[in-house]
Amino acid sequence: MTWFRVDDGLCGHRKTRRAGLPAMGLWTVAGSYSSQQLLDGFVPDWFVTTWPSGRKHAAALVTAGLWTAAEHDGDQGWQFHDWEQCNPLPPEFKRAWIPSALRELVVSRDGLVCGLCHGVVEGSDVHIDHVVPVVHGGSNDPVNLQVAHSRCNLRKGGRVR
Ligand SMILES: [Zn+2]
Repeated sequence: MTWFRVDDGLCGHRKTRRAGLPAMGLWTVAGSYSSQQLLDGFVPDWFVTTWPSGRKHAAALVTAGLWTAAEHDGDQGWQFHDWEQCNPLPPEFKRAWIPSALRELVVSRDGLVCGLCHGVVEGSDVHIDHVVPVVHGGSNDPVNLQVAHSRCNLRKGGRVR
């Protein structure tokens, strides 16, 4: 479970007044949905239309400067303004995605040798392990990355060693 945060300035903000209570109702349930689905502040149009006058309230949120029209993976919808600053994704939800160029760099540096058990890794079994796991603040800096067997990487999980 994640939390959708509402700061204590919301009650007195001019954007809130401008949007009005019904639109702020949509803002609240949509924020909860976007947080639950890890959509980083995107709200799909279909979700909005499941609420009475949903599109009208969405338009009011755009006019008030709380939302902008947006697209996410081909879906039309809306984006919360300043979502990243207000609702940073907890580290345990951050995806440890490694771009292919970075992956190739690590493999060419380490060769097909597992950094965890030092065994030889089949090319198709290569995982890139974060030496300091992402949940502990480890980054995608190449010095924090090493080649690993998929089984060794998965066994290690969120542990440092
Ligand atoms: Zn291994």
